Amino acid sequence: MEKNSEAKERKEELFAKRRHGAYRISDDEKAVSDSFADEYTAFLNVSKTEREACINAENMLKKNGFVPFENGMKLHAGDKIYRNNRGKAIIAAVIGTESIEKGVHICAAHIDSPRLDLKQNPLYESNELALFKTHYYGGIKKYQWSAIPLSLHGVVVKADGSSVTVNIGEDENDPVFCVTDLLPHLATEQMKRPATAIIKGEELNILVGSMPFNKDEESESVKLNILQILNEKYGITEDDFLSAELEAVPAFRACDVGLDRSMIGGYGHDDRVCAYTALRALVDCKCPANTAVVVLTDKEETGSDGNTGLCSSYLRYFIEDIADCFGAKGRHVLSASQCLSADVNAAFDPTFPDVLESNNCAYINRGVCVTKFTGARGKSGTSDASAEFAGKVRRLLDSKNIVWQTGELGKVDMGGGGTVAAYIANMDVDTIDVGVPVLCMHAPFEIVSKLDVYMTYRAFSAFVEEGRADNE
Ligand code: MN
Ligand code: MN
Repeated sequence: MEKNSEAKERKEELFAKRRHGAYRISDDEKAVSDSFADEYTAFLNVSKTEREACINAENMLKKNGFVPFENGMKLHAGDKIYRNNRGKAIIAAVIGTESIEKGVHICAAHIDSPRLDLKQNPLYESNELALFKTHYYGGIKKYQWSAIPLSLHGVVVKADGSSVTVNIGEDENDPVFCVTDLLPHLATEQMKRPATAIIKGEELNILVGSMPFNKDEESESVKLNILQILNEKYGITEDDFLSAELEAVPAFRACDVGLDRSMIGGYGHDDRVCAYTALRALVDCKCPANTAVVVLTDKEETGSDGNTGLCSSYLRYFIEDIADCFGAKGRHVLSASQCLSADVNAAFDPTFPDVLESNNCAYINRGVCVTKFTGARGKSGTSDASAEFAGKVRRLLDSKNIVWQTGELGKVDMGGGGTVAAYIANMDVDTIDVGVPVLCMHAPFEIVSKLDVYMTYRAFSAFVEEGRADNE
């Protein structure tokens, strides 16, 4: 008996403790976590595109005293600034009490999500139905996007240079749209296609109308009727689609999932869940020690290229411009900086246990997930955080009693993926991935746990406020 109890004691000391977060938080914290989830859900419901997320983020920043950053501004500890990058990405900062040369603490999340973009000549009529041609954006299982209600969001820049904002399908009185699919009765041949082609890229056509214009029996009068409606509502003509960005996204609202209401289902958790939690951490932070920076970027889902994606220089320019205000060198600031690449990871799904390795994957409700490396095959494309930086983050989270876990994006050689971590690490910044575990990632309806969302907010809060002299 004595031998057994000694083993038990040693186990207690030496084994890692991996368990459900519910056993580790108080009832009070659970209540705070639930109400935080409601605030996040409200944000998600009005932030279905990168542009909408950017507008809502900017409004939140303005409400909390952040002002547009102008080059050469006199900056002091506690100052709150932001820069909007073309309405699709935004960076905000709270100036810290430490010298800027001690580096900044960056949280980097993305606000673009997989979706169906309209092509530049989208509208056509076929057999008395009007449809939009689309080109999918990001990594999707195409078949998941048929036979669900879709809404249409974006901007159209007209011939005279003026632009109109489009948002149809979100109000409960709005119509919605749909990619049609075959009835099973006639799908024998379709169902023999490989899953990647059950719905092919050129079959992601969105049904938008079926009635002719007036009663004149003109050709293409169903298409004409749609253009007539759009012209009345937005003053646009067919050519205006050439200079438009219109995105079709799931029209349904985010909601609680489960009888215990412990989870949130919705479109675009990846990565607005980390965008919202990082932004809230910044907005809620008191005067930090190191200058805190949150960047909400675009174009992550297509590889981060383009001037609103993190392969561009806009984040580096922002930090260099802050450094200039203090007479410091931007590259010295970057070399001393740290970054949490705030992005989601795959959560273990008991229905598909084979793709994740159970000792190293993330689980719903075990808290915020710290991912040391991503990539594919032999860690290709990863920045792989150092043991030293992983150790720092570990100590920080433990010191604040934050429920956290490790994760990896799938079994070795199962597939893989990446985040913006590598692009920030490439600027000589210590970087590690930290974010929320997600079920059904990249599906029209993704699922996260409320506890994990709240713990992610707490992790970002701890990081942006790290080192602050706490007098409370
Ligand atoms: Mn993604
Ligand atoms: Mn992501």
